[in-house]
Amino acid sequence: MRIDLVTAFPDLVQGPLEESIIKRAQDKELVRIIVHDLREFTTDKHHKVDDYPYGGGAGMVMKPEPFFRSLEQISASVEDSRNLKIIYMSPQGELFNQKMANELAHDEHLIFLCGHYKGIDERVVEEFVTDEISIGDYVLSGGELPALVVIDSVVRLIPGAISDMDSAATDSFQQDLLDCPYYTRPEEYRGLQVPEVLLSGHHENIRKWRREQSLNRTTSRRRDLLSNHRNKKNGFDRTEDEYNGQA
Ligand code: SAM
Repeated sequence: MRIDLVTAFPDLVQGPLEESIIKRAQDKELVRIIVHDLREFTTDKHHKVDDYPYGGGAGMVMKPEPFFRSLEQISASVEDSRNLKIIYMSPQGELFNQKMANELAHDEHLIFLCGHYKGIDERVVEEFVTDEISIGDYVLSGGELPALVVIDSVVRLIPGAISDMDSAATDSFQQDLLDCPYYTRPEEYRGLQVPEVLLSGHHENIRKWRREQSLNRTTSRRRDLLSNHRNKKNGFDRTEDEYNGQA
């Protein structure tokens, strides 16, 4: 996979891209992430990326020219630019979720545009953007953190990015369920015990306990997910009894 990220604030993203799973995925050449400094696509001596809004009013707007130039350069660097996914991180976009992360993880090339101030000149959106994604109903100062959120959730799903793919497959939302609780050594800490069943070595009982915890948590915290899970039948071998009184 290749990911291009276009931003006026490259320092905001460099640190997170050089740590943990995202770094390892790049080291293993599972993904190539290229950060483009929008200011390098300006032509004036002050490298201006924003200007006053037509029509007046508060706030600045990100100028179209640097975005046009950067996207044209990125398009020119690929063999076939017809199916590029160009994503504008925007509070007005589709609400991001695990299903979208799973879908994006199948794409070969993602391009993220990060806005700032009042946002990007709409002509960039009209001309290039294929998808608008929001990470939630709140407004951040820029698209850098939202883009990192999406990139992190997508990269960890690329086969090989995390050592055990089963771990990602059992995470919350993958089966429309919340994940179960986890414990590690020591068995007892300050009088707090690990549940007996997890120490039993009885795999079937452990699996059942985890599933029950997962269903209980989903019921008490996210009932909305549970009905989805039930409807899809997910290949999860639960019985109707398990749902009785829950869904
Ligand atoms: N005027 C815009 C509006 O109300 O829709 C908000 C602009 S916001 C201050 C600046 C930039 O931050 C946006 O262009 C976008 O790239 C990014 N941003 C802010 N909140 C976001 C969110 N919830 N999801 C994704 N991107 C967001």
